[in-house]
Amino acid sequence: MLSRLPNWQGIEESRQHFKYKVMALIVQKYGGTSVGSVERIQAVAQRVYKTVKAGNSVVVVVSAMGKTTDGLVKIAKEIAQNPNRREMDMLLSTGEQVTIALVSMALQEIGQPAISMTGAQVGIVTEAEHTRARILHIETERLNHHIAQGKVVVVAGFQGISSLRHMEITTLGRGGSDTSAVAIAAAIGANFCEIYTDVPGILTTDPRLVAQAQLMDEITCNEMLELASLGAKVLHPRAVEIARNYGVPLVVKSSWCDDPGTWVISPKPQGRSLVNLEIARPVDNVEFDTDQAKVALLRVPDKPGVAARLFGEISRQNVDVDLIIQSIHEGNSNDIAFTVTAPILKRAEAVAAAIAPALRNQSHPNSDEAEVMIEQNIAKVSIAGAGMIGRPGVAAKMFATLAEAQVNIQMISTSEVKVSCVVDATECDRAVAALRHAFEIEADNEQKEQGKVSHSPLPTPHSPLPTPPPVRGVALDMNQARLAIRQVPDRPGMAAKLFGLLAQHNVSVDMIIQSQRCRIVDGIPRRDIAFTVSRIDGESTQQMLTQVASELGWGEVVLDNAIAKVSIVGAGMVGQPGIAAKMFEALAQHQINIQMIATSEIKISCVVAQEQGVKALQVIHAAFGLAGSEKVVIPV
Ligand code: ASP
Ligand code: MG
Repeated sequence: MLSRLPNWQGIEESRQHFKYKVMALIVQKYGGTSVGSVERIQAVAQRVYKTVKAGNSVVVVVSAMGKTTDGLVKIAKEIAQNPNRREMDMLLSTGEQVTIALVSMALQEIGQPAISMTGAQVGIVTEAEHTRARILHIETERLNHHIAQGKVVVVAGFQGISSLRHMEITTLGRGGSDTSAVAIAAAIGANFCEIYTDVPGILTTDPRLVAQAQLMDEITCNEMLELASLGAKVLHPRAVEIARNYGVPLVVKSSWCDDPGTWVISPKPQGRSLVNLEIARPVDNVEFDTDQAKVALLRVPDKPGVAARLFGEISRQNVDVDLIIQSIHEGNSNDIAFTVTAPILKRAEAVAAAIAPALRNQSHPNSDEAEVMIEQNIAKVSIAGAGMIGRPGVAAKMFATLAEAQVNIQMISTSEVKVSCVVDATECDRAVAALRHAFEIEADNEQKEQGKVSHSPLPTPHSPLPTPPPVRGVALDMNQARLAIRQVPDRPGMAAKLFGLLAQHNVSVDMIIQSQRCRIVDGIPRRDIAFTVSRIDGESTQQMLTQVASELGWGEVVLDNAIAKVSIVGAGMVGQPGIAAKMFEALAQHQINIQMIATSEIKISCVVAQEQGVKALQVIHAAFGLAGSEKVVIPV
């Protein structure tokens, strides 16, 4: 995986601060289980009290006690199948209101001045979207006033109000109190935000599936976002987006002990405006790379070990590949395409050509042989930023922009923090200019705006920065479905059309793959496009697309629910050959067939059959040496 390294220097600078014990402004967030009983609330009060006594100012953000929110949802469903969303917010926001009062009382009881505040009282202003509002703005005046008086302010997480005029109670979506906490930390310029939960931090994978999962000391925000399907249960992805965008140092730890937990490292704050906090600038950079070439292997057999063989050989030749895409097809052959930097194209091509004859499709001896296709004049253009998760409109806007600029897209690769398209090199400048214009990115990427935040971040306590590991964590997502559209005409605007439709229906797309092979049907060159969506969206999306397919000249829309997606994520894989090969080899050794591959700079994902998902996760976790002997205890 090629490309630029993250801003390690910024991270290192912020680390340095931690060596000095200074008085800090800290936001502490306690999740449901951490405030699940009287004893737990008293323990929280003790921890807060200790933090204040050490000379810090503390804002506490809490969730509803235990499973209160689930209980409220259940009651509502007994009354109405599809309860009114405004009333749902009215109901669910009560959970947190109970906790703030009790925590505040517990603090007062041990002699710590404290005051509870609802989202409305603080002035957490959100969109008027009930049950899934995004934060627009946080008033800091009342918060700061109480802090200045030496009080601990205990704020209800997960809730806000639609505007200071309308005062409609909104909620941020399930698990949203992490988001409240980090947004408050950004707004008041807290030194850091601590997320207290019932696990000791972020683990290399799901410990219920892999007993040897290990605790991480640290992880970057981008890695955390790419691992969203793994980490979402521990830390709300929207909270990580805010931490990244505003440079809020974040740590996840257990409220049961004093272990250091896992630091989630954000790049240096960019001085971003606090206006439209969660909705401004989902894209903060447009990147391009003209030094790319594409190698495609067409019609390779769809069976375990093919990708492993190809990329094993490529890594033995020390060729670093950037994007890898494997698409699926009718019948039983695949296309695998990858990009490399132009200077090593010759070597990559030689490897592919040497291996192609050996990959002949044995079950279809009469079919055409595997064939190598080279494309030299290509460029990769990408949009990057935190704010794309759950917002299908962002990728759709990229494709629409390219379509409008008459740029044809040859390959697409999407991840949680980046969408990359391979286009013809001659169209690169036009593509970049159009994208910069559409996403309001200045060429030098300077973002000087009003309302700057100033943090004096004091992140991780441990000093020298180790080189980041190539693989930080492994995630398994069993809640996806795959859709494939056959024979989509290969011309500008098709991806825009498709993803525009998906965005309109609020369907988030995860992996997107365009096949390499072009087939001429009815005189028009066509390709298959496959992508994955949440399983709950699968059927309705298939229906919606089937309805428009013939009108748009597309072929059949095929749905497969029985898939699993395994991903490896690590900032250290950038510029390191052989990481993909190792993943594919681990799968091949266990006879696990790879149906689709998609990569971004710091992530490689494979789609496999659903029943092989857990096994795939286990063998990959082991292959990268992430397994440890220390058993991490997870409370039930
Ligand atoms: N109480 C809310 C929920 O259960 C918010 C949260 O806990 O973060 O979803
Ligand atoms: Mg929660």
